[in-house]
Amino acid sequence: MLETTVAGSLPKPSWLAEPEKLWAPWRLEGKELEQAKRDATLIWLKEQEDAGIDIVSGGEQFRVHFVHGFLEHVSGIDWEKKTKMGIRDDRYVVDVPTVTGPVARKYSIHSDEVRFVRPHAKNKMKFTMPGPMTICDTIANEHYASRPDMAMAFAELLNAEARELEALGVDTIQFDEPAFNAFMRDTVEWGVDALNAARKGLKCTTAVHICYGYGIQENIDWKETLGEEWRQYEEIFPALNGSDIDQVSLECANSKVPLELIALLKDKDVLVGAIDVASLEVETPERVAATLEAALEFVDPERTYPCTNCGLAPLPRDVSVAKLRALGAGAALLRDRLKNEKKTKKAEAKKAKKKRKGKKK
Ligand code: ZN
Repeated sequence: MLETTVAGSLPKPSWLAEPEKLWAPWRLEGKELEQAKRDATLIWLKEQEDAGIDIVSGGEQFRVHFVHGFLEHVSGIDWEKKTKMGIRDDRYVVDVPTVTGPVARKYSIHSDEVRFVRPHAKNKMKFTMPGPMTICDTIANEHYASRPDMAMAFAELLNAEARELEALGVDTIQFDEPAFNAFMRDTVEWGVDALNAARKGLKCTTAVHICYGYGIQENIDWKETLGEEWRQYEEIFPALNGSDIDQVSLECANSKVPLELIALLKDKDVLVGAIDVASLEVETPERVAATLEAALEFVDPERTYPCTNCGLAPLPRDVSVAKLRALGAGAALLRDRLKNEKKTKKAEAKKAKKKRKGKKK
């Protein structure tokens, strides 16, 4: 009950890439770089275990960015042909590469990484990949007839990759779809179909992570425009509840998401974001427990997984470690509280039964 996990990314150590920066280039090359990525992964596995995280991630130490870490190994993309694109519905304008031919995996992309992490992770491990719609929102299209067509092409690649990772012992495959919160109508019209195609035939647990983005300034500014209540989930959760995905990871802590929207996911596990990634202030375990407890009004504890709101990648390393520990401690606190409540209820019921029996005599 209340198994803890993380949304995915964790900060890179300063010797691997410049800290507190998204897209920071590697600081090493060749063999040294490959060794450094593995070392960084080991550090995060240990930190997560020490913090009491039950389902760990490799922390995405092998990739510069969660989308390009996949796309770099896909053919059909012209990386020299940069197109200016306002991504996540114009939240930020970036130069993106362009799809100019049919996309295909050049080889198995993440297998070596999983082969490394699996024996080092003592318990369950999750692996994160970008979802098809978010990929399409991070790359320009000059080949496919439409964005949904391109999404389906990428879903096939993701599915082939996911099947390989499952065979290597991954417990949970998570697709990250922050674009779902920016394109709600498209999500319902074709995003969820593409997601189903990406998870097709998998027997491991599958999850989708939908957040309001990393704690970077562009996202903080965007959140300012969303009004008093963030109701984006309301439009997409019914479609997701009807999807083939097992778990939905969402943002709760310090957000303006009305918690009753969780009730729309009545057939899914819910990964409740109880750690804010847009603030350097470390939550107390009591605060984490309170966030989780508020969510439990709308979801059973058996279907609830305490999680971070989003990846911790752009945060300082020490802050991230402290936040992971707060998550582990907060979940433990709540587990104890629920257990005690159950015990008390049981004892009271026993007492009442005894009393009734006594009266009968
Ligand atoms: Zn996220």
